[in-house]
Amino acid sequence: MLGSLLPPFGRFASARAQTGLLSSITSPAKRWGMAVDLGKCPAGCRDCIDACHNLHNVPTMEKPGDEINWIQKVPFPGAFPSQENPYADKSRRDRGVIILCNHCSNPPCVRVCPTQATFKRSDGIVMMDYHRCIGCRFCIAACPYGARSMNFRDPRPFIKSINPEYPTRTHGVVEKCNFCDERLAKNLQPACVAACRYQALFFGDIAQPKSEIRTLISGRQAIRRRPELGTDPHVFYI
Ligand code: SF4
Repeated sequence: MLGSLLPPFGRFASARAQTGLLSSITSPAKRWGMAVDLGKCPAGCRDCIDACHNLHNVPTMEKPGDEINWIQKVPFPGAFPSQENPYADKSRRDRGVIILCNHCSNPPCVRVCPTQATFKRSDGIVMMDYHRCIGCRFCIAACPYGARSMNFRDPRPFIKSINPEYPTRTHGVVEKCNFCDERLAKNLQPACVAACRYQALFFGDIAQPKSEIRTLISGRQAIRRRPELGTDPHVFYI
């Protein structure tokens, strides 16, 4: 069933398996993290976004302000406002940057939630309990990354094809990326990582010094979004 929700997934998952990339996922982890290789992610590709949104029943809202995004692609200045290169050539500027919840180690969204609807797990994933969310939107105000979306209307009519294996949300509930905790529990890579045909996304246990993702970010220049805020984001850009 899940294979049909992730159109390119099977083909690319096996390609990654051949390169050994899938072997790095072993649950549980001490600290999950993600890396995005900006040089490999081409303009126009939406494979990771479609895989995530199809799997998690993320609705497609046309009305501005109502959009729901677990993962999206934005222009570089939108992701890194203070680090724009004014001399970057057009192809690099047009590429866009994948952004999602950073699963911060010090998440302000968790601190402000009055009902503990959002909470941090011991493996670093910042989760949502949709049943506890009262729609106060304090978490949206607190998140400096715009990683959360509010359902201002019933999302179900706007879901292209409902995946019965994942819950839908309701009017008045906030939602966001969950690092595919449901897939990690089965030792599967997050859907976005598995769907990426360019191998631009990496995921694993950053706390393990010999893990693939740790090796990647320790051996390359890596930046994070607004680390000066003290949130300790765990999505790295190389
Ligand atoms: Fe919370 Fe935003 Fe950090 Fe995600 S990116 S953990 S929503 S503060």
